Amino acid sequence: SHTRREWNSSRSERLFERQKKLIPSGASSLMRTSSWDPYPLFIQRGKGSRIWDVDGNEYIDFLMAFGPLINGHSHPKINNAVKKQMRNGYLFGAPNELEYKLARMFMKFVPNQDRVIFALSGSDATFNAIRIARAATGKDVILKFEGHYHGLHDYAAISVESPPVVSGLRWFPRPLAYTAGIPSEVLDTVVVANWNDVESLERILKIRGNEIAAIIMEPIMANSSVILPDDDYLRAVRELADEYNILMIMDEVITGFRVSEGGAQKLYGVQPDLSTWAKALGNGLTISAISGKKEYMELIGNGVAYGGTYFASPIALAGALENLRLLAYNDFEPYRYLKRITRKMAKGIEEVADELDEDILVTWETGLLSFIFTKRKSVRNYRESIDSDWEKYKKLQRYMLRRGIYLHPDMFERIPLSTQHTEEDIDAFIMALRESLKEYREK
Ligand code: PMP
Repeated sequence: SHTRREWNSSRSERLFERQKKLIPSGASSLMRTSSWDPYPLFIQRGKGSRIWDVDGNEYIDFLMAFGPLINGHSHPKINNAVKKQMRNGYLFGAPNELEYKLARMFMKFVPNQDRVIFALSGSDATFNAIRIARAATGKDVILKFEGHYHGLHDYAAISVESPPVVSGLRWFPRPLAYTAGIPSEVLDTVVVANWNDVESLERILKIRGNEIAAIIMEPIMANSSVILPDDDYLRAVRELADEYNILMIMDEVITGFRVSEGGAQKLYGVQPDLSTWAKALGNGLTISAISGKKEYMELIGNGVAYGGTYFASPIALAGALENLRLLAYNDFEPYRYLKRITRKMAKGIEEVADELDEDILVTWETGLLSFIFTKRKSVRNYRESIDSDWEKYKKLQRYMLRRGIYLHPDMFERIPLSTQHTEEDIDAFIMALRESLKEYREK
C-alpha cells in the first residue's frame, strides 16, 4: 500500500464546506480541523489498524483518535461487551457493579493507588484533580510546565499552543492564555516552569512555593512531540513538592495504560499524590479516572464536590473493563508486543533518515513515538522542540496520505501505536516515509 495511488478526497471537501456553515470551524473539536490544509478527511469506518474515508480511501491509522485506541478500532471483544450492556440500558444515574469491577482491574495495572474515581474526559480528570489539590492544601496556585497539555479548561489552557508561542524567560516563562475568555484572575493563579529543568523549578519555588497547591505535569511530554524526562528528573520534582507541601499530579492521560501497564509512574518508579488517566483506559469509550492517595481522594464527598450525569456510564465501564482484560492478558503480554513494534518503527525511521541524509529526531517509549525535523541530537523541553521544521512535516503528511498512511499534519501530535498494528503496517509506514521524503525533495 506504500505506492502512490490515485487519490480523491472530493467528498470530504464537499462535506466540510457544508458542515462549516452550521458548525463553527466545521467540527466539534478544533484539533480535528486545524492544521489540515485545506480540509480534513471525513472518516467513515475503522477496523483494527485501518480506517476508511468517505471517498473510499483506505489508510493505516497512525493517529488513533489522538491516543485512546490501544486495542484498535472496533475490537470484536470490546464490541461484544458494549453490546451486552446496551441491551440492559445506557445510563441509570445509580451506582453500578461494573464500577467496582473496573476499579479492581485498574488497581491490577496501577497497584499503588489507594482510591480511584471515574469521569468522562481527560479535561474533567485534570480539572477535578486540581480542585482536590487546592482543597487539600488550602492554597490556590497551580504550577504547570511550558508545552504540557492538560485539556482546555481555564486552569490548563495556558502556555501550550499550536502553532507554539512562548513568552518570558526560559526558566520562568510568562503564562500565556491559549484561548480568549480566560479571566486574568485565573491566569494569576497559574505559574509556568521549564520542564526537565530542576533549577527552573527550584528558583520558582523559592519565590512562590508557599502559594502553590499542585505541580501538574505530563510525566513524558507527549503534546509537543514526545520528550522523555531526564534521569532522576521526576524524582527531583517529587522531592521538591514534598519540601514545599505541594501535591504532585501526574497527568497520565496519554501515557496511562500505554507506556507500561502502570503508566509512566511505574516505568520511572516515582509515586505522585494524584494521577489522571483517560485515553487508553477506554479504547475510545468515554471514560477517564483520577486516582491517588487516600487522604486526598477521600476529600471527595468530604468538602469537595464531585460528579457528572455521564460519569462512569455502564456502557463505558463495560467497554473499558474488556479493554483492560485484553491488555492484562498473559501477564501484560500486549505491552511487550507494543514495545517491539514501537522500537521497530523508531529504528526504521532512523535508517531512512540516514539513508537519505535527513535531519530527523525520533523519540519513543512503548506505544508512543514522534519524529521531528531538527538538527538537534536531543530535545529536552518545549522551546527546543518548537525549533523544528513544521512546514516540512505538514507537506510530508500529505504525501503520506496519498500512500495510505494517516497521520495528523501537526508534527506535535505523537504517534500512538496499538496492539492491532502489525509488523507489516510498520514496514508500510517506513516505505511510505522513504518515498514521501524523496517526493518532497523532487518538488
Ligand atoms: N491531558 C493530556 C496529557 C492530554 O494529552 C489530553 C488530551 N490530548 C488531555 C489531558 C485532555 O483530555 P480530553 O481531550 O479528553 O479532555
